[in-house]
Amino acid sequence: MEKSAIGIDLGGTNLKGIVMNGAGKYRHLKRIPTEAHKGGQKVLDNIFKLIEHLIKKEGAQDHIIGVGLGTPGFVDHNGVVIGGAENLPGWKGTSVYEAIRAKFNLPAVAGNDVTVTTFAEYKFGAGRGIPNLVCLALGTGIGGGIVADDHLYKGSHGMAGEFGHLIVETNGRQCTCGLKGCVEQYASAPGIVAAAVRFCAEAGPQELTPFVKETLKDPAALTSKTVYEYVLAQDPVALRVHEYACEKLAVAIGIILNAFSPDRVVLGGGVMKAGRIIIDTVLKFVPRYCWPEIAARCSVVAAELGEDAGVLGAGAMVFEELNFHDRP
Ligand SMILES: [Zn+2]
Repeated sequence: MEKSAIGIDLGGTNLKGIVMNGAGKYRHLKRIPTEAHKGGQKVLDNIFKLIEHLIKKEGAQDHIIGVGLGTPGFVDHNGVVIGGAENLPGWKGTSVYEAIRAKFNLPAVAGNDVTVTTFAEYKFGAGRGIPNLVCLALGTGIGGGIVADDHLYKGSHGMAGEFGHLIVETNGRQCTCGLKGCVEQYASAPGIVAAAVRFCAEAGPQELTPFVKETLKDPAALTSKTVYEYVLAQDPVALRVHEYACEKLAVAIGIILNAFSPDRVVLGGGVMKAGRIIIDTVLKFVPRYCWPEIAARCSVVAAELGEDAGVLGAGAMVFEELNFHDRP
């Protein structure tokens, strides 16, 4: 049978798994609950259950070359989760490679979830054929990933690409990570909502736009999706929130561009459902925050793969890191 990899995407709510070939063609997509609240061992047991299911579906294991896992947090080169997975209590300290090897006699590779989706975009999505690219996922936080010279760059302890915690304002807003002024506090979904609530509270009597009125009625109910509905309707206060968030994001992207000079920046995550308007506004600001020669050689595009990026990247990483490239 064709050489195949198992790709697993570990999320706080669901575990997803596939079997795929080196070209990204996959089968047996399966989703089961993570049961994160039951602790790290239960999460591992559920990963085993999913792998068992996928091997059973295949009817054989000989052609499976390894298991790839995308997980919240950081995984070091020995496959140990060393931190950063606060939504998975008890997951820190898990020795992923050893556990999968002991249970299935299969080699495993693992990486931070956004690092893994970055690799999927590079192999099969918005970064195909682009040797140097960075990815930023704009969601409840901001994650990132780096492909450098056609290789996934994880850093020496699996912690590279934490773009959400680039500081865009000295002594700025307090971040959950302990630092102040991280871009995540301005351009993630909660960051955008927090800015919107502040801007609406400060709006003068001439600025009581429909957006301001709705926000002030129930600030706790505001979502970034609602903010962007008003942005697209050209509400002036909502537009100001949007410009503010995009400029902060552009500061971070400017730092990334000057550091890496990539060919492409791929923007993904839930906030990007707002679409083209975010890219256009970011591009307007980026030249203020990095060298024009670098900005001129870098494109900014939307991610293409959506929610299957996690499993695809995890499987692709097996082919990449175990050096098992498909040969006829
Ligand atoms: Zn931070």
